[in-house]
Formats: sequence, C-alpha cells, structure tokens
Amino acid sequence: MDGMDVAIVGGGAAGFFLAVNLKELAPQARVTVFEKQTGVLKKVLVSGGGRCNLTNSFAGVTDLKQVYPRGHQLLKKLFRAFGPEDAYRWFEAHGVPLVTQEDQCVFPAAQDAHAVADCLKGHAEKLGVAVKTSHAVESIEQRDGRYEIRFRDPHSPSRTFDCVAFTTGGSPRGEAFGYLEKLGHRIEPPVPSLFTFNVPDPSLRTLMGTVVDPAAVGIPGTKFRQSGALLVTHWGLSGPAILKLSSHAARFVHESGYRFPLLVNWTNETNTDTVTASLQELCARHPQKQLGNIRPFGLPSRLWQHLLSKAGFPQERKWGEIGRKGICKLADAMCNDRYEVEGRSAFREEFVTCGGISLQSVQPQTLESKTCPGLYFAGEVLDIDGVTGGFNFQAAWTTAYTVARAVAEKIPNK
Ligand SMILES: Cc1cc2nc3c(=O)[nH]c(=O)nc-3n(C[C@H](O)[C@H](O)[C@H](O)COP(=O)(O)OP(=O)(O)OC[C@H]3O[C@@H](n4cnc5c(N)ncnc54)[C@H](O)[C@@H]3O)c2cc1C
Repeated sequence: MDGMDVAIVGGGAAGFFLAVNLKELAPQARVTVFEKQTGVLKKVLVSGGGRCNLTNSFAGVTDLKQVYPRGHQLLKKLFRAFGPEDAYRWFEAHGVPLVTQEDQCVFPAAQDAHAVADCLKGHAEKLGVAVKTSHAVESIEQRDGRYEIRFRDPHSPSRTFDCVAFTTGGSPRGEAFGYLEKLGHRIEPPVPSLFTFNVPDPSLRTLMGTVVDPAAVGIPGTKFRQSGALLVTHWGLSGPAILKLSSHAARFVHESGYRFPLLVNWTNETNTDTVTASLQELCARHPQKQLGNIRPFGLPSRLWQHLLSKAGFPQERKWGEIGRKGICKLADAMCNDRYEVEGRSAFREEFVTCGGISLQSVQPQTLESKTCPGLYFAGEVLDIDGVTGGFNFQAAWTTAYTVARAVAEKIPNK
C-alpha cells in the first residue's frame, strides 16, 4: 500500500486539525473530510464571541480536574505529547499570532476567529486534503478490514476507507451515536454542560445586575461547590462560578431535571467562624451604627439590604443590638443563602456536551477504538469536556494531534 485512504467525519476544529497534522506527518495519506453542513468550522467562527478563545495558558491550574470535569486523567497523559504550549506554538508557526489575556485565555492577535478558521482551511487546501461538505455520514460498517461509509443523501455513493476518524463533536440529543454504539462502543449518555441557572425568585429579581467576585456556590448534600464571579441576571444566576458548577455537576443536575437547591455564599469564606468573627468585630466597633449603613465584606448595598431582610432585620437596627444570635443569623444569611433552581439557559448560546464515546472504548495512547481497529475518535465526540476559557478547543487540538500521529505511524514509508 503506497498510502492510505483516511476519512475524517466532521469538519470542525478537531477534524481540520487532524487532517492538517496527518498530511504534515504523512503526506502520502489520502485524506477526505466529510462535513454534513454546507460550510466547515462553523463553531470556530462563532466561538469566543467571534474571537475564538483557542486555548489557555493553564497558569494557576494545579489539577486538570479543575478545568476538565471529564477526561482530565487522559488529557494529562496526552498533553505530554501535545499540550497547550504546543498548540500555541503550532498556531503561531502556521501564521496565527496569538495573545494571552490577563485572565489567561488565548486569542488570535487579530481578535477574529476567522484567523483560526482560515489557517486551518488554508493549510488543509495547500496539503491536498479533500473536503466534502453537505455529506452527512449516516452509517459505517466494517468490510474486510476496511470501513464502508454511507451518507444520508441517497445520491452520494458509499465509500470505503482504511481508516476513519470520528470528529463529529458533541451531540446533546445523542442521535449520532447510534451506529457507533452498534460497533461496540460504550456511549456515556450525552447531556449539556456550561449553562446558567434559572431562579424564579422574585426577591432575587431586585438584585439584577449585581456582581460579587468572588462568591461561592454549591449544591447542598453534594460535593459540588465552585467559586468565582457571580452575576444576578433577569432570569437567575450566571457568571464563571455558575458556569463552572454547571460543568462539574452537569450529570447530577440533568438527573434532577434541572430542579435543585443552590446555596450561595456571598462572602466566599469557607470557614463560617471567620464570618462570625468579622461580624462580631463590626458590632464592637460600630455599636451605634445602623445595620444598613455598614456593609461587611464590601457586599453591594442592594445585596446587603436583601440579606438583612432575609435574616429578618430592619435596616435601622443598630449593630450593638443584634447580639450573638443575631450575628449567627446574619452569618447564615450571608454564607448559606438558599435558592431553588428551576431550569437552565444557554450561556451566550455556548454549551458543550458532557458524555459521548466512553474513554473506556478507546486505546488511551492513540484514541483508536478497542473494538474496531482503524477507527479513531477526537474532539468533543469523546467523553471529554472542560469549563469555559479555551479548554474545550485545547482538548480538540490535543486529541486530534494524538490521532494524526497514531494514523501516520500506521502508514508505511513515510
Ligand atoms: C457558541 C459557542 C462558542 C464556543 N466558544 C468556545 C471558545 O471560545 N473556546 C473553547 O475552547 N470552546 C468554545 N466552544 C466549544 C467548542 O466550540 C467545541 O468544544 C469545539 O468546537 C469541539 O470541536 P469538535 O471538532 O470536536 O466539534 P465541532 O466543532 O462541533 O465540529 C463537529 C463537526 O462535525 C459535523 N458533523 C456532525 N455529525 C456529522 C455527520 N454525521 N456527518 C458529517 N459531519 C458531521 C458538524 O456539523 C460539525 O461541523 C464554544 C461552543 C459554542 C457552541
């Protein structure tokens, strides 16, 4: 065999990154990308508000579990071969200058997602990758050690390949997984991740626009707890703290039908004694001042009024009058402010899928299927997903590179 016919199903971030890297590693491979939509790389173009947050410096990430609720162990290994620094260098070497923001998110210096999409498309074209749009793959079957792919459009004849990589992305509806399950792959049920919480509590409405940074949010009775900026919106709660919680607790909250209690700790203090102590200090320092006039922990004034009223204190009550019991009541209102979540909303239309092809169904070094040799998976189709901040694209680059290298190694006479 003087080359190899390779199909890549899905013309998104992972599919194109895989195609370009494979052709660079093994120019003799004949690579075809099949994309069901009329255009490719559509999510890249809308990502990061049109700017594409393509990776992260990972500074301050002490454990990958913090940013990858699913897939962190596998990614830790795969990052050794192609990690965030490699992705950064790769894009710069391929003509996309990058900038790292203060929050450690990495964007193209042009602040335009087209820079990333054009780079991937341009290199694919230059390297001779065939791209077939409007080709929705409907099924795949093993035939004599090769794979026959059938398309939804009856006018597109089926085609046979030596190797097939699935980079079909996340699918919260799970429809794409049927034929892969038939081939013996375990599917972790797909559910959405990265969303905001609907809280139909009229008292919260009065706080619309309030931001507390950092605050902590948690689901009582579970270990799910996150901290970060918290924003009160007209439908409920949003901001990094909520998005992170939605990601880590994605499966749990799905099973609850998106109805669950939420505890907000507006102080972000893990130790309630610290909060009690600082309230005691305020009582001692300002016994004659009204509660409404002195705001502990720099809490925004509307929020402080809201918490005082929840704790049953009039604004005019004096700090010196509330006593020990009152202090405990206030500390509780500040640290265990309970709401009932009823539903979820998309965050700027951004979401990723928790679930997909189980990591137990793939070889960890190559992402080749354990049941179907020659079949590979990369990107969000795998049960890997991260929080916001460029982590999802990084997972796509890393897994796509892993597959490109594994396929290239199979090709004789590179
Ligand atoms: C609005 C939005 C903004 C985002 N912003 C960011 C960001 O700034 N940073 C970040 O890290 N992540 C971001 N994400 C997440 C990120 O876009 C995804 O994690 C990433 O695109 C996954 O890449 P992928 O190639 O695996 O899947 P996709 O990019 O989803 O590509 C999969 C492709 O496969 C095609 N396909 C599916 N089924 C078939 C089939 N049967 N036959 C043929 N083709 C098929 C799809 O049409 C699609 O083009 C964002 C997501 C959204 C929705």
